[in-house]
Amino acid sequence: MKAYHLLTGLLVAALGAVARSSEALEHALAEALRVMEQHPLIDGHIDLPFIVRSLGPRPLEVIARHNETMPGHVDLERMRQGRLAGLFMVAWIPCPDPWASDDYLDPNNAVRDTLEAIDIIQQMVVSAPNDLTLARNSEEVKQAFESGKISTLIGVEGGHQLGNSLSSLRLYAQLGVRYVTLTHTCHNAFASSAGSGTPIEPAHPSNGLTDFGRELVVEMNRLGVLVDLSHTSYQTMTDAIAISHAPVLFSHSGAAAIYDHPRNVPDSVLALIGDGADQNPGLVMSVFHSPFIDSKNATVERVADHIEHIAVVCGKRHVGISSDFDGTNNAVQGLEDATKYPSLIAELILRGWTEDELADLMGGNLIRILDDADRASGSLAWMPASAATYGRRKDLPAHWGGADDEYLPADVKQYLNQRRQLHDEL
Ligand SMILES: [Zn+2]
Repeated sequence: MKAYHLLTGLLVAALGAVARSSEALEHALAEALRVMEQHPLIDGHIDLPFIVRSLGPRPLEVIARHNETMPGHVDLERMRQGRLAGLFMVAWIPCPDPWASDDYLDPNNAVRDTLEAIDIIQQMVVSAPNDLTLARNSEEVKQAFESGKISTLIGVEGGHQLGNSLSSLRLYAQLGVRYVTLTHTCHNAFASSAGSGTPIEPAHPSNGLTDFGRELVVEMNRLGVLVDLSHTSYQTMTDAIAISHAPVLFSHSGAAAIYDHPRNVPDSVLALIGDGADQNPGLVMSVFHSPFIDSKNATVERVADHIEHIAVVCGKRHVGISSDFDGTNNAVQGLEDATKYPSLIAELILRGWTEDELADLMGGNLIRILDDADRASGSLAWMPASAATYGRRKDLPAHWGGADDEYLPADVKQYLNQRRQLHDEL
């Protein structure tokens, strides 16, 4: 008898849950769409430019051919369907595989390829003037939303793409780049990486930022380029947070406390982000990539668990949304492509997130740190551009060539000879 009651009770509860969930879900989904009409959702990390580079030897023709629909997770049609209001398109170029030497000086095409990727982003915008618009700051993001266009911001995903040069950084900034990830899956001259998932040998004395990396962080602050710490080692994260004059960004990472993966942010680092006087007012944009979410149970609910954990530790003003679409072959169940953003917002509505909190999560927090980074840049306007160069370069000072510097103007040659003599005497 007792067992019978228990069974009936469980059955009633289960049926109730099913009935409640489908009705509640429908309601939450409708509410999500309403909220997304009112407030922009800006995705922090989409690898669409690399898909374009992958589809043929003449990538710009790929854009024209696939303007509305594109293989992968994202295209204009699906962005519209998913109510996406803006995105960081990422100019990502793979790490040299592997670096032949540990001085990071092997010649490679990363700077050319990054410029090509930025060009692809610009040309995608040109080819879809009614849908996309480039955005460099919060004002342009807001204007785009008001005019019904999708803001396209630019990120560069790896210090290796700077060719060991702060000049590259400055010129990327001029082209509209708003974040640079300090490392991708490889260490570089600036910083140590977390690797790709399996443990990698540490690099640099502390496995964190190098002196040149510290120069990079301050130069990024001066330029208003956000310091992105996804992909970096824990030590790089803490080193950069300690010296950054502006909010830092995690452009696509989850919470290690929810799923332990070196690409996720541990609580010890999350504790450094927040509104406290001794915290960095940065932003952790929570990712969808299944291997970071939960290798056995990557679902919308689990993604929401990561978001909520970051919100609990850092505060709801310090969490955002970042799919890593087109950069993952492992989509989360229920978040398979760019049409699915409303499902995540609906899940959070079911968990009690208010409209204001959702507005911050979807885009408000990102808009705030763009403004903060611009303010920090303004306050550093007194600083000249950093003259730092990578100390291990062998091509500086440059040599003119020819026998005995024969093409150099006489006074330059004289100056160099004096310098060399002085050097010998020392
Ligand atoms: Zn990535």
